[in-house]
Amino acid sequence: MAELLASGGSLEMVRTAFENGADAVYVGAKGWSRRRAQYEMDDPGIVEAARYARSVGKILRVAFNTLPASAEVPLFLARTDALYAEGVRDFILTDPGLMMALKNRHPDTILHASVGCTIINVQDAFFYKEAGASQIVAECRMGMETMRKIRREAGVGLEVLVHATTCFTLLGRCTMSSYTKHEHRVDAAGKDHFPGSPNRGGLCYRICLTEWDQVGAGGEVEAEGITLPNPAFFLVDDIPDLIDLGVDTIKIQGREYSVALVGEMVRFYRELIDACVRDRSSFRIEPWKERMARIAAERDAERREKTAGLIGESLTSP
Ligand code: SF4
Repeated sequence: MAELLASGGSLEMVRTAFENGADAVYVGAKGWSRRRAQYEMDDPGIVEAARYARSVGKILRVAFNTLPASAEVPLFLARTDALYAEGVRDFILTDPGLMMALKNRHPDTILHASVGCTIINVQDAFFYKEAGASQIVAECRMGMETMRKIRREAGVGLEVLVHATTCFTLLGRCTMSSYTKHEHRVDAAGKDHFPGSPNRGGLCYRICLTEWDQVGAGGEVEAEGITLPNPAFFLVDDIPDLIDLGVDTIKIQGREYSVALVGEMVRFYRELIDACVRDRSSFRIEPWKERMARIAAERDAERREKTAGLIGESLTSP
């Protein structure tokens, strides 16, 4: 049966996600994931969360899904060695070089290729499998036919986001935030801090969600207040098809939401997946849509608040 993967931005959120039915939870290693530091976890917290996951027979995955400079590689290896020594085996990575390095060092680790890899076709899936990944995350725009092809041909697990926000560009290739957030420094340990790049351990400031002016060749404003399409998507309708297709993991994003909302979202998808698997032939999605609409409204309210704050912060910071 497809695994339900939820997000954990704190120990409390990890526990809540498991209690509400997640089979696995992912957390971001502080400084090394695609979210703000307050939603990442430090190593003692990760070790405790991993112990808790093992105690309830579930899995904790740790995301180190940024693209490091050479000087950061020893830091990555030292941190993953320390987590490995504490029993952590499951990692989410973006950089194929780091995948190979970690797999060579600890062959029994389980590596998943992150959404930041922008895996959009079967050749990408082969590439990350070669690098050591046993599972890949489908890019948000991947269609069912490509998913089928990957399942049939690539020999890697397939993970699909069902509760997320699409990007105007491809998520792992976007550089928009670095145009407004220019800060960059290297600390004494050699770690790069590049807050304007989610691919480098910073974050997406949702720049594509701001309003744009269209400026003509002569500098005149031709149109004001243009917004780019960047909807939240839920894929509730597609869950039965994803289950039929045999996807390995159904993933819900949302480390930045409140613990209560994450718990509610996990419970919803747990019950939906279980109902679908229990009686596939008579399963109908319609009754679930009303409940989904309520959760989506709560999520959008939290999202709007956070997005407005993010864009403002990006434009006023150094
Ligand atoms: S700025 Fe927009 S397109 Fe770029 S990563 Fe963020 S949400 Fe995606």
